[in-house]
Amino acid sequence: MTGTLENCLVFDGPLVHSCSRNQITTHERALVVVENGKITKVVENVTGDVKEHLGSGKYQMKKLEKGQFLCPGFVDLHTHAPQFPNQGLGMDMPLLDWLQTYTFPLEMKYEDEGFAEKVYKNVVKSTLKSGTTTACYFGTIHRKSTTRLAQAVSRMGQRGLVGKVNMNQNSNGKYVEKTEDSMKETLNFIQDVSELNNPLVEPVITPRFAISCSMDLLKELGKLAASGNYYIQTHISENKAEVEFTKEVFPDQPNYAEVYNVSGLLTNKTILGHGIYLSDEEQKVIASKGTAVAHCPNSNTWLKSGICDVRKLWSNNVKVGLGTDIGAGSVSSIIDAMRSALAVSINKSFYSSEDYKPLTYPEVFFLATLGGAEALNKQESIGNFMVGKDFDALLIDTEWQNRPDMNAPTFTMTDHSLIERVQKLIYSGDDRNIAEVYVCGRLVSSRNISSK
Ligand SMILES: [Zn+2]
Repeated sequence: MTGTLENCLVFDGPLVHSCSRNQITTHERALVVVENGKITKVVENVTGDVKEHLGSGKYQMKKLEKGQFLCPGFVDLHTHAPQFPNQGLGMDMPLLDWLQTYTFPLEMKYEDEGFAEKVYKNVVKSTLKSGTTTACYFGTIHRKSTTRLAQAVSRMGQRGLVGKVNMNQNSNGKYVEKTEDSMKETLNFIQDVSELNNPLVEPVITPRFAISCSMDLLKELGKLAASGNYYIQTHISENKAEVEFTKEVFPDQPNYAEVYNVSGLLTNKTILGHGIYLSDEEQKVIASKGTAVAHCPNSNTWLKSGICDVRKLWSNNVKVGLGTDIGAGSVSSIIDAMRSALAVSINKSFYSSEDYKPLTYPEVFFLATLGGAEALNKQESIGNFMVGKDFDALLIDTEWQNRPDMNAPTFTMTDHSLIERVQKLIYSGDDRNIAEVYVCGRLVSSRNISSK
């Protein structure tokens, strides 16, 4: 702690977080001291009077109730803000048909900034309510509307990486840009985001996917990303037809990953959505660049894209986190992404050799928190409750049904252990379990108040 405890917030209660991939660390009672948005002290396994650990001074105490615990905020590495109105639509189609039928027609509507404003405000509100403290958002090709998204993220206090989509070919003939305009508007968008003057909101270079961009455009974007050390996000190897089409569009490149590699788009600040059909050779190139994969199991199931083998990515040293991928994914919650990751991995195990071990719940919890932070190279500032990191946290309530204000059917209180409560969150939880959401120490969403 720095000097006095005046104006600092102290949480007193159970704490869970990930310090490694295989294990969830739990403390039955801990004190977490937050000053100016940062964690300045953590006292583990507290007994006795709080003052014995904190000394005298003024501080605001937040005592957790029975059934509650602190958990790091969730990181959503891949989602499409403009597609939220289509959530749950066209799930019976394969990727390329779904794009033409549902996605491109909706995204074209974002030419209207007023429409964008209405949707984006609610997108950020809903992802915060779901516990997503850090989100990587795709916008549309429209610069001004995507700036509205960045403004909403900034205003509501989320940590956000926001990208104006680039696409100059293989669209529906209407939803497409000229290369020159695409680059000019991307530069303007970066300027717009810098004018927000908010370190929590960053621009992301966002070629939609290889098919929708010419090699010239990809290379220009690669140069731009290098010039400002900007984040990059795109899709890779999501669907077999898409992989085949990519080969046709880029016949000079030996594989999908190489299309991005020769464009300078594989860096240690790049997030690739999906990565289902990557060969070992491609995975090794991706790992060597420090590039990460966003595993989006819900989307991969509904669009029948395939099953991403997270264990194989890990064995090739590729960093992995989770994405909800709205609107190809049907649920915007990372709790659902954890559950879906477990389900697809278990289903994969039925058809794999005995050597294949399905993902475990500590592993998907890691993917949702510290894994996502590592994928973004932000593990020094977010991902768990180590001293010095920003306080991005969720106050989880596993007994929300028993709160008088929730008007829900109640169950008899049972003395579950802390790790059992974590299981309840992962296997059967949803937004109702998230009582409060903090980003950088600021309360940004609460069950009892509406977002600003
Ligand atoms: Zn996507």
